[in-house]
Amino acid sequence: MDWWRDAACAHEDPELFFPVAVTGAALRDQQARAKAVCRRCPVIHPCLSWALQATGAQGVWGGTCEEERRGLRRGGVQGESALGVTGSA
Ligand code: SF4
Repeated sequence: MDWWRDAACAHEDPELFFPVAVTGAALRDQQARAKAVCRRCPVIHPCLSWALQATGAQGVWGGTCEEERRGLRRGGVQGESALGVTGSA
């Protein structure tokens, strides 16, 4: 996980990425704020790849919540492909 060194969330409150609420507007709001950090993160691709392989990963990783990652796994979509990246950098 060398990519972690460049994680945008390293400078954020970790609790933002692990919502306490399980449903409703509070959950959606917290997830949206965490995903906004992910969208400007330079390591979103390897982060999502890791999270898709780590089936026990909770919270927001790689710009996705747990439910979204379950959907991506069911669809057979892997990390960078899920983000629309087809080649390596
Ligand atoms: S993509 Fe999101 S969760 Fe992953 S390292 Fe970047 S900011 Fe953190």
